[in-house]
Amino acid sequence: MNSIKNITVVGSGTMGNGIAHVFAQAGFNVSLMDIRQDALDKAVATIGKNMDRQIAKGALTEEAKAAALGNITTFTEMANAVVDADLIVEAATENIDLKVKIFQQLDELAPAKTILASNTSSISLTRIASHTKRPGKVIGMHFMNPVPVMRLVEIINGYATDQEVTDVIRELTTFINKVPCVVNDFPGFISNRILMPLINEAILALQEGVADVQDIDTIMKLGMAHPMGPLQLADFIGLDTCFSIMNVLHMGFGNQKYAPATLLANMVQAGYLGVKSGEGFYKYTPGSKEMVVSDRFRQRR
Ligand code: NAD
Repeated sequence: MNSIKNITVVGSGTMGNGIAHVFAQAGFNVSLMDIRQDALDKAVATIGKNMDRQIAKGALTEEAKAAALGNITTFTEMANAVVDADLIVEAATENIDLKVKIFQQLDELAPAKTILASNTSSISLTRIASHTKRPGKVIGMHFMNPVPVMRLVEIINGYATDQEVTDVIRELTTFINKVPCVVNDFPGFISNRILMPLINEAILALQEGVADVQDIDTIMKLGMAHPMGPLQLADFIGLDTCFSIMNVLHMGFGNQKYAPATLLANMVQAGYLGVKSGEGFYKYTPGSKEMVVSDRFRQRR
């Protein structure tokens, strides 16, 4: 691509390492930045392991892996990481104050031509852009987890995003063999506006004792051909994340239909966050995504 050669990814966690992976594999120079060196080390190791999986499936060669890893440089200093960037994709922790601070820094440190994208799942791009001097160059680039596998990129236009910036990001998405869908900046965009109320409704049905965890998930899997039931999916996403996105929808639309289920709020308060904490709607063996049916909800019926 003519206008994009150097891409900086800010934040090297779950999403950041996947985003760096796909750009490096597509031949871009990738600067991967995190405030924590251990997060960067872990990200590079994860990218290597995920590429080995692609090799085992015949989807990548050893040479292509070496070339892709050679395209990635890691940084802990923002100023060094953004100096040549044509595009920056921010994938730091989902927190509005943190994102505003990062975008103010990026606006100050990156060249004037640089496009600033965020991988946020729920924060308003218009709001983030309003804290920069280049709102026309701020856009949402919402990758799905796991990034190397999932083909959708939801592109979010803020109120002031320039059409040519949207066009470049759409072209880039296609170039990395993913499918772009462009949406406007409303709470939850499209993906989470539709997914999260579905999950919340499943939790409300459980809370009301309409059916148990397994039956709710089986009905949605076998009846609606969903690859995973909504309660299992909530465990994978993290119940804290589901709760915070429901709150964004509830506040953003001011409509009671988006109020998070009391059971969801209680579970988050009690530290039952799903796979990451070892228990949510199911129990998980530590360090694995293997699930065991929990009798916690059965006892309550
Ligand atoms: P994560 O917690 O795995 O990683 C966040 C990383 O950001 C950490 O490594 C942290 O050290 C780093 N970080 C924190 N402050 C920073 C700073 N000032 N500068 C640079 N790095 C900093 O989080 P994640 O799950 O990868 O989520 C990242 C973003 O992607 C969030 O906005 C989230 O909403 C979005 N997202 C997540 C998913 C998902 O399934 N996890 C899916 C789509 C979008």
